[in-house]
Amino acid sequence: MAAQARPHREIIVAGGGLPGLSLAVALRRAFGEAVRITVCDPAFARAGGPDLRAYAVAAGGRRMLERLGVWPAVAAGAQPIREMVITDSRLSDPVRPTFLTFAGEVEEGEPFAHMVEGGALLGALRAAAAEAGAILDPTPVRAAVPESGAITARLADGRSLRASLVVAADGARSRLREAAGISWIGWSYPQSGIVATVSHERDHEGRAVEHFLPSGPFAILPLSPGGSLGHRSSIVWTERQADVPALLGGDREDALREVERRFGLTLGALALETPLAAYPLSFGIARRFGAPRLALLGDAAHVVHPIAGQGLNLGLKSAAALAEALTDAMRLGLDPGGPDALQAYERSRRADTLAMGAATDGLNRLFSTDVLPVRLVRDFGLGLVDRLPALKRLFIQEAAGLRGAQPRLMRGEAL
Ligand SMILES: Cc1cc2nc3c(=O)[nH]c(=O)nc-3n(C[C@H](O)[C@H](O)[C@H](O)COP(=O)(O)OP(=O)(O)OC[C@H]3O[C@@H](n4cnc5c(N)ncnc54)[C@H](O)[C@@H]3O)c2cc1C
Repeated sequence: MAAQARPHREIIVAGGGLPGLSLAVALRRAFGEAVRITVCDPAFARAGGPDLRAYAVAAGGRRMLERLGVWPAVAAGAQPIREMVITDSRLSDPVRPTFLTFAGEVEEGEPFAHMVEGGALLGALRAAAAEAGAILDPTPVRAAVPESGAITARLADGRSLRASLVVAADGARSRLREAAGISWIGWSYPQSGIVATVSHERDHEGRAVEHFLPSGPFAILPLSPGGSLGHRSSIVWTERQADVPALLGGDREDALREVERRFGLTLGALALETPLAAYPLSFGIARRFGAPRLALLGDAAHVVHPIAGQGLNLGLKSAAALAEALTDAMRLGLDPGGPDALQAYERSRRADTLAMGAATDGLNRLFSTDVLPVRLVRDFGLGLVDRLPALKRLFIQEAAGLRGAQPRLMRGEAL
C-alpha cells in the first residue's frame, strides 16, 4: 500500500543480509514506486553453502516480519521457545543442576521467541524484497561518495548509482563504514561460536537450554521436528579459539562425541545433521551510526556476543528504526539522506545497542570462567533470580525485544 506518490527517491542498500533486506521490504511496502531501492550483494549470485545458523527471532522481530508479510513464509518451520533452562557446571560434573528457568510467553499465546533457520529466513526475505519491487543486484559496492545533494555508490563493475542515501548493511567488517572514516570501538573474544544442527530421539518440547561451561556457553536451541532421529536442535557452542581447529579437523564421529559430552543424554541418542561450522566472536559498536548521506545498519553498526541470541534482533530493530526515521522524513517532504533523518535514527538506537553490547559482554565474562568464588556468586545470583517472578518477567520482556521504546514495526504497527 503506497503511502505517498512523490517525490521520487533513490536509496541504495549495500548488503542483502537479514537487516538490509528487511529495510528494503519495509520501505517498498510503505512507499511503492515512490522509492526506488537497490540492494547490492554479491551473495545474490552465489549458490554458496547454506547458513547453518538458526536464529532466536524475538517477539518484537516476529511482529515486524508479520507486518512485512514475511512471517507466513517461515511460520510452518518456526519452533516456538516455550521454556528456557540455565545450568552452570563443568564438563566433568555428573549432574547439571538447573539454576534458573523461564516460561516463555510475553502475551497469552505469544512465545517470547521462535527459532528460525537462517537459510529459510534469508530466502523468504529475498523473495519478499523482489516481490515488493526492490532491485536485487549481485554487484558489490566499492565506495560511497557524498556530493552536493546526493551520494554516488561506485559498484565493482564500474557503474555509478546516484541516490539520496546509501545504507551500509555490509556486515561487521563494513568496507563502507571504514571508507567513511567512522571509527569502531570493540574487541575480539578469544572464542569462536561453533554451530551445527543435531537430531535426537526425544522431543525437546520447545525447551532451550544454556549450559554455562568454563570455555563459554553451550546453547541447545529447539528446532521444528525432522532429521534422522525425528527431533532437531541447533547448537551454538562457544569454545576457546585455540581448541577450535582440532574440534573441526576431526572426523564426524569425533565431532559427535565432543557434542555428546556437552549436550548430555537427556534427549536420547544424538546424530549430527550438519558439519560443525565456526564463527569468530567479537564485540563492537560504531562511534557514529551515520555520515553524510550514509547510514550504518546491522552488524556494520553493532556486533554483540551471541550468548543471548540478540545480534540479529538488534539488527532487525535498527532496520525498523531506520525505516521509521526515513518514512517520517519523507512524509514531511524532507530528504531521507538529510541530517534530521539520520540523527533521529541514531538517537533511537544508540542507548539500546550500547546497553545490549555491555550486557552480553558482561554475561560472557561472568560465565566463561571456572574460578570457584565467581561460580559460587553467579550461581547464588541465578538462584535468587529464579525466585523473583517479577524480575523474570522483566528479563523475558527484554529478551523478547519489547522493553523500552519500540519502533512502530516492532509493535506490529504499520510504518
Ligand atoms: C555463532 C553465531 C550465532 C548467532 N545466533 C544469533 C541468534 O540466535 N539470534 C540473533 O539475533 N543473532 C544471532 N547472531 C548474530 C547474527 O548472525 C548477526 O547479527 C546478523 O547475521 C547480522 O546480519 P548483517 O546482515 O548485518 O551482517 P551479515 O550477515 O554479515 O551480512 C552482510 C552482507 O553484506 C554483504 N556484503 C559485504 N560486503 C559488501 C559490499 N561491499 N557490497 C555489497 N554487499 C556486501 C555480504 O555478502 C553479506 O550478505 C549469531 C551470530 C553468530 C556468530
